[in-house]
Amino acid sequence: MSIQLKLVQLRKKIRANKKKITDAIIAEHSAEMCIICGSQDQLTREHVIPQWVYNRCTKRTFETTTNGIYQTYNKTTLPACKDCNSNLLGYLERHLKHEFERVDVSHQEFTHETLELIILWLETLEYKFQVLDLRRNLNKVKGAEYIPFIGKIPIAMFQGSMDTSPAKVFSNFRSALQVLSVKSKADRLNSLCIIHTINKDFHFFHSTNNFIFIELAEFGIAFFYFYKQSFDDHSAATESAMKIVEDHYAETDT
Ligand SMILES: [Zn+2]
Repeated sequence: MSIQLKLVQLRKKIRANKKKITDAIIAEHSAEMCIICGSQDQLTREHVIPQWVYNRCTKRTFETTTNGIYQTYNKTTLPACKDCNSNLLGYLERHLKHEFERVDVSHQEFTHETLELIILWLETLEYKFQVLDLRRNLNKVKGAEYIPFIGKIPIAMFQGSMDTSPAKVFSNFRSALQVLSVKSKADRLNSLCIIHTINKDFHFFHSTNNFIFIELAEFGIAFFYFYKQSFDDHSAATESAMKIVEDHYAETDT
């Protein structure tokens, strides 16, 4: 079956079930149901960051900037049914992995179709992080004063500024799933930057509703994608992205 036919199935599933899923997760953040189709049968653990992505990473953790606690990639999973996990999202990942192996971005370009698939894949990561942020509560940070009341509030409520209202958080969450059912990503292409990299380790950072940076050392490629921001041309996006990457690593180096 072709990738496009698989994605038709994925979009159909999301469109048919998105209200059921988002209502259920908003009512019970840790609801044990497939986060893509809402099924409660044959649930598996879907990795938020797929294992093949951080294969060569020596650190294997990411920091959730909101409460500064390290979490290991391999332990960060969400419930997804067997079909959504391995047959649909897994198919998209295997297809992209093959493209990453085939195309050398130091002198070749991805096809238009592949670029749209990369955007869809990065959007699935954003959606998974939004679910994760709802499921995880703000934990005690070592050495800091702990306020039990705050410990009961999902991390999602602390994104960006402290005044993020639940209504705003839930509407962002709904639209993060909705966007996965949109076929064409053509109008988003300017917001995706493809970077040739020679770093040896996996690097990653993500800002909810904002952007993602993910470096796949094994394939010599990094992606920076702006989830919401649009750009008139590609060089403006690249300039903004490089500035954010530089600032991020300047901060973590000191
Ligand atoms: Zn499912």
